Amino acid sequence: MDKISIIVPCYNEEQALPGFYRAVSKAAAEIDGAECEFIFVDDGSRDHTPDILDSLACADSRCRYISFSRNFGKEAAMYAGLQNSCGDYCVFMDADLQHPPELLKEMYRVVSTEGYDCCAGLREDRTGENQFRSFLSRAFYKVIRKLCKLDMGDGKGDFRMMNRAMADSILELKEYNRYMKGIFSFVGFETKWIPFHNVERAAGTTKWSVRSLFRYAMDGILSFSSAPATLAGTTGALLILAAIVIGVCTLLAGKGLTGIALLICLILLLNGVQMFFISIVGQYASKDYMESKKRPIYIVKKKRGF
Ligand code: UDP
Ligand code: MG
Repeated sequence: MDKISIIVPCYNEEQALPGFYRAVSKAAAEIDGAECEFIFVDDGSRDHTPDILDSLACADSRCRYISFSRNFGKEAAMYAGLQNSCGDYCVFMDADLQHPPELLKEMYRVVSTEGYDCCAGLREDRTGENQFRSFLSRAFYKVIRKLCKLDMGDGKGDFRMMNRAMADSILELKEYNRYMKGIFSFVGFETKWIPFHNVERAAGTTKWSVRSLFRYAMDGILSFSSAPATLAGTTGALLILAAIVIGVCTLLAGKGLTGIALLICLILLLNGVQMFFISIVGQYASKDYMESKKRPIYIVKKKRGF
């Protein structure tokens, strides 16, 4: 019999957890050929989340939990959950029932019989979500897809069931600033996407403010791309070009390069050269930054004959 580890990051989820446990237990009972364990990670909650997890662990031997000393963020909670899981398959689920438990059965069928390493939920819409936040999120995914050349689309979230090989490869990435959507994409493996509709949070409130989402977005871009450093170089090159064009045009107009035109050319040229060299320094720094993550150079999916 296979074992599925259900990993649940929880931050101040006292209102949502009882309903989550009931709904997911029911869905887990319907999965043929596999038993489930719950790994809750209390991410430094300041409400009664730890007490609820304690009573779940007392009442049900399938429930285990880890409590952080303070709030470390969802990415850290997911890493800790994965590290402490021993299932043949692992699935990440939010505690607020925004990840439909009824998909677990289909996800397990896909990863255990269809040859996929991972089966992930693809959220098709953002119904019920704050319009401003939806707009910002969509814009962010457009930018990050262009900059990072990794498959990170809108709606491609953390709700996914993966096999042990993929889970272990994620654990091999030990970087501190963990941007999970990027990491999922970086490690590769075959993923099947199954669509689902967005539902509003079952209880409690979202833990993300626009400020924390912006920080998260910047983390994502900086963790997987050196494009911001390149941007300085491009801007510098454009400034140098503008200086040359203004200089040449003024000379062609036959007025000689004196006074205000000379001043503008010099300012643009010096700033351009400066930005260009800052960008080169940035490129070196970004290479060093990427090296310091000590990411694996390759990830093996299967070995035979060794
Ligand atoms: N979460 C966490 N640590 C945090 C923020 C969130 O463990 O610092 C958990 C939260 O308890 C929930 C999941 O991450 O289980 C998703 O959070 P939320 O529902 O607030 O995000 P949203 O669905 O609004 O993007
Ligand atoms: Mg949510």
